[in-house]
Amino acid sequence: MNDRVLVVNCGSSSLKLAVFDQSDATIATALAERLGADNATASLRYNGEKQALALTPGAGHAAALNDIIAALADQNILKQAPIAVGHRVVHGGEAFKGAARITTDVLQAIEACCNLAPLHNPVNLLGIQATRTLFPDVPQVAVFDTAFHQSLPPHAYLYALPKRFYEDWGVRRYGFHGTSHAFMLEETARRLGKPATETSLISAHLGNGCSITAIRNGASVDTSMGLTPLEGLVMGTRSGDIDPGLFDFLADKDISAERLHRTLNNESGLLGLSGLTNDMRTLIEAADNGHADAQLALDVFCFRLARYIGAMLVSLEQLDALVFTGGIGENSARVRAETLNHLGLLGFAVDDARNQAHGRSSEPLGAIHGPDSRFRIMVIPTDEERVIAREALKHAQ
Ligand code: ADP
Repeated sequence: MNDRVLVVNCGSSSLKLAVFDQSDATIATALAERLGADNATASLRYNGEKQALALTPGAGHAAALNDIIAALADQNILKQAPIAVGHRVVHGGEAFKGAARITTDVLQAIEACCNLAPLHNPVNLLGIQATRTLFPDVPQVAVFDTAFHQSLPPHAYLYALPKRFYEDWGVRRYGFHGTSHAFMLEETARRLGKPATETSLISAHLGNGCSITAIRNGASVDTSMGLTPLEGLVMGTRSGDIDPGLFDFLADKDISAERLHRTLNNESGLLGLSGLTNDMRTLIEAADNGHADAQLALDVFCFRLARYIGAMLVSLEQLDALVFTGGIGENSARVRAETLNHLGLLGFAVDDARNQAHGRSSEPLGAIHGPDSRFRIMVIPTDEERVIAREALKHAQ
């Protein structure tokens, strides 16, 4: 019996695919990078092995999708059409409070959000169209990064701008990484043996993009990303929060709005501060070898994160756990320790040995707090693809 669920995640120049079975097990994953460039590559992970895949020369998203699906069929990973396809869609605006089975109306609503996420939604739509062409009879489901945050109260989602900016143009805070934060809720509740609706946490997703969310009794009530995924924490190449007065300050410096957009999105964050790299692992190695600006970038990253953890507490009545996830959150004991060292007054106390051992120890909760900590602190690997597969199955029926 065919039981495969396909997950499609189109980034600006990348494409990630994952194949699950109905019992939630990952069968295979594939990744194509630098799409549209001469040096585009693709790889497949299956049965514990990684293999390179050939791509059509000059492949964009649609061609790469076709190439990878053909390889999955060749290797009997996807012998027939999947039973459902889940698509990651970055921006659902205020139209989507959850995942949605893709119809003409849903496609139009996603298209209407393109102006809110011009770098993301158009490529997400490309992925949907290409998959629909390949599998016209298979239910396709859109899973939105923003949907989990539709529970934000107005005091958390409104900017202090003229109200008509919101009313006429939808200028408000939407929040992103919702799939990952929702998974943190589900997984924290499961590990603590509590219903999700009674679980409150602060979820810090620290990858190339970084965001933090306060979840009160199962609902997102504050989050660090805003109208776009640029606001909030320091990220690999994104600035996070800056003084909006910067725009006026730069007006006579001959920096166009387009140039500034590129700087804030692609040349800032860890890369901008260190002048070296956007990759946390490389940055920490450089800091350890005496690169002063790498250490500075790390310090700014951790301080901003600590400040936001404090800010997230304002939205909660109680806290079951502070949870770290994403490539940095899961793997960097250094970032966790440096961040938590700012938070002693609030009662967060990390246990150095547990923190260092995380990932190598069998501590069942993934806990890294010490006995004197006022709050539980946990490290939980995220799995956005798995959540998308579950949602696809749920909404395909
Ligand atoms: P994406 O947001 O693209 O999914 P990831 O969640 O994989 O990214 O996170 C990538 C980040 O995680 C990179 O900055 C990488 O250096 C960092 N990272 C991965 N492993 C480690 C590690 N052992 N120590 C520090 N940082 C790490």
